[in-house]
Amino acid sequence: MNSGTSRREFLGTLTAFSLFPLEQQKPDLILYNGNILTVNDREPRAEAVAIRRDRFLAVGSDADVLHLSTAGSKKIDLGGKTVTPGFIDAHSHPAEAGLMHLRMVDCDLRSISAIQAALRERAVKTPPGEWVLGFKYDDTKTEEDRPLTVADLDAAAPDHPVHIEHRGGHTTYSNSLAFRKAGIDEKTPDPPGGKIDRDPATGKLTGRVAESANDLFENAIPQNFTRDDHREGVKLISKMLARTGITSATEAQGTPTDLLAYQDAQESGDLLYRAYCFINFHFLDAMIAAGNRTGLGDEWVRVGAVKLVCDGSISERTARLSTPYEGRPNDYGILVMTEEELYTHGRKAHLAGWQIGTHANGDVAIDTTLRVYERLQKESPRRDPRFRLEHCTVVSQGLIARIKALGAIPTPFSTYVYYHGEKMRYYGAERLNHMFALRSFIDAGIRPTQASDYPPGEFIPMMALQSEVTRTDTKGNVWGPKQRITVEEAIRVGTLNGAYASYEENLKGSIEAGKLADLVVLDRDPLKENPSTLVTIPVERTMAGGRWTFES
Ligand SMILES: [Zn+2]
Repeated sequence: MNSGTSRREFLGTLTAFSLFPLEQQKPDLILYNGNILTVNDREPRAEAVAIRRDRFLAVGSDADVLHLSTAGSKKIDLGGKTVTPGFIDAHSHPAEAGLMHLRMVDCDLRSISAIQAALRERAVKTPPGEWVLGFKYDDTKTEEDRPLTVADLDAAAPDHPVHIEHRGGHTTYSNSLAFRKAGIDEKTPDPPGGKIDRDPATGKLTGRVAESANDLFENAIPQNFTRDDHREGVKLISKMLARTGITSATEAQGTPTDLLAYQDAQESGDLLYRAYCFINFHFLDAMIAAGNRTGLGDEWVRVGAVKLVCDGSISERTARLSTPYEGRPNDYGILVMTEEELYTHGRKAHLAGWQIGTHANGDVAIDTTLRVYERLQKESPRRDPRFRLEHCTVVSQGLIARIKALGAIPTPFSTYVYYHGEKMRYYGAERLNHMFALRSFIDAGIRPTQASDYPPGEFIPMMALQSEVTRTDTKGNVWGPKQRITVEEAIRVGTLNGAYASYEENLKGSIEAGKLADLVVLDRDPLKENPSTLVTIPVERTMAGGRWTFES
């Protein structure tokens, strides 16, 4: 640390805070003897922080900060441990995932027989005829190396309708009774924007259903979650996120129910991360009529962008691409909304002062979404719309130039290369150099974020760092090495850039006096770690708003 610089900065800080009465300058807590990576360009390294209520009061050297200590200040020796700002998961589905963990069978298992056993166990405890629901199933991760079938699920629970969501969230797998309850048989036509898979030889249902065809099941499955269940879901996922160092997350497909669940969890003291709650476009009219828009709320629960969806998913290989999937010459993926639909919803939101976040994975979907954003901004310019491209996976130089020109924000998957390596071959080595394109975004002056999309992706920030820095999967395969970034860049992507994506860069995302006291204490320094073991760095403690949300 350059102490001359730090002292100057520190004095600047003190001046700013002397505007407050002396009483308010007394720290409640001082953390010292740390290796603090602040993500603040004016003072990148520090040894200590002073915290008053939920904010950083001072950041600097041990001597400078300890000097502020009073009789009432608690002091914690960090023992040289590394501290970063709290991580921000800029696209995830935590409230939804929390409910799933409460109610559904976790099918993140490595064989079909293990999944059958888990379903059987749940069926025994469930009255016959009632739904047995599963989630986090992944067709590429079971040892049988084939997808689940109707027969597999019939064998596991013949007397219960069984419905399992792929961890990507865009496809589902059901048994015979579930299809009957949903009113689907071999003759049911594919709905627009959806697909009911049939065996090409026999015409029989395979069990798999994609995209909008899933609505047929959603209508048949009773949605009997209570208000308390929703709060419990947030409580459960809060603990899961906090132990990995996450202090903020975007609910990327939120509803008014989620917004309420977040407020309930905050009130009961169970909310351990700051929620930026997107609102699904179906609720846009009601939200606008009620006077809501992006930014309403406080540091814990805030109304986020309106969510639109342009195409399919990367993990389930339904993203809309300009060139076909490897080995599937006629498969270009699926578009979910037309350009006109995106424009109609987008215009309404744009004029009402909402940020827009559009799910766009493939290059065709990104091109379409950008054209809509460009048109909105041309017709009705807004000063700082911060249009978001959710996922923004497959890009080109042309698309990157347009993203930069528009000031749009990509939220690429952070852990996919590492965690979903076995799916990468469907995209091919050449295309992978243009996917999750952090190097290209950063070089172009764009501010990409860290984003798990959990449940589809894992949310562990240290895994995100490893994936982004090494572009290597768990088996050692390298995917798209041209997009590697440095550990320092990856930390910024996971912190300050996430704050910018929700208009909160002056409130959080770096360790600076005046900002919210959100931080993570790590057992080892990521900057000194072998990049291939970043994922193994333990999180010692997590703090959000001056309160420890996790202590190991
Ligand atoms: Zn998502």
